[in-house]
Amino acid sequence: MPLVSSTSLLEAARAGGYGIGAFNVHTLEMLQAVVDAAEETGSPLILQSTVGTVKHLGPDYIAAAATVAANRSRVPIALHLDHCTDFATIVQCIRAGYTSVMIDASMLPFEDNVRLTKQVVEVARAAGVNVEAELGKVGGVEDDIVVAEHEALMADPQECAEFVERTGVHTLAPAIGTAHGIYKGEPKIDFDRIRRIADLVPLPLVLHGGSGIPEEQVKRCVSLGMAKMNIATEIRIVFSDAIKAVFADNPQENDPRKYMIPAKKAVKEAAIEKMRMVGCIGKAGDLR
Ligand SMILES: [Zn+2]
Repeated sequence: MPLVSSTSLLEAARAGGYGIGAFNVHTLEMLQAVVDAAEETGSPLILQSTVGTVKHLGPDYIAAAATVAANRSRVPIALHLDHCTDFATIVQCIRAGYTSVMIDASMLPFEDNVRLTKQVVEVARAAGVNVEAELGKVGGVEDDIVVAEHEALMADPQECAEFVERTGVHTLAPAIGTAHGIYKGEPKIDFDRIRRIADLVPLPLVLHGGSGIPEEQVKRCVSLGMAKMNIATEIRIVFSDAIKAVFADNPQENDPRKYMIPAKKAVKEAAIEKMRMVGCIGKAGDLR
């Protein structure tokens, strides 16, 4: 089937009490690996790229690869632009075929965040594209956006409700204590805050910084209404580790297939594990 908007996938997930894995991919092999994972397990899938990857590969290349994957697939697949602070890049990605975008204006004052997010919603709505926005600040590093963990600000539930009402976004990423990258200790997730936000905001909520959150905490987040879990760092690590292992055994290896095949397998296995954790296995049929 063609690429779908992530709105319908995520609304079905929130209504059904499960989450959907959204995987940041950087190469064709990573993209194919998470698509294989979704196919094999009958899971709906969100492919994501950061702005850095869009600049590195080109939005048209990424959208073309995702479109081929979706057309060949029997599970619904959406293509999402992760953490974009810039209106022009969002328009460029929508034109290239992305079916979902994140406008991250969370570093701006509330009123400016509302204004910029609303502009993106207007452009996206005409194209049937999902819009995700962020309130508060998720700690850690995402591409070149750095937020010191101690400075990470949690989202205010009342502000979330007002923000959603005024902007018309389809999905909201409220900062609730998770961080990008790999956690040094246990993440300190504010579950009560998620519950209060979910009570006021009926939309699918998005969990950023999904790498390394213990399973029990992931499940609790999902049960509270977090319908999308972003996974970036963890699949990068298994992909790179598999390649390093090949070169450790055979430093002279020069056939990319020899190291990409084990790297793909590692990403596929890690993706299936995350899909199991958020409960989306077998849910591909929800939309048909
Ligand atoms: Zn994020």
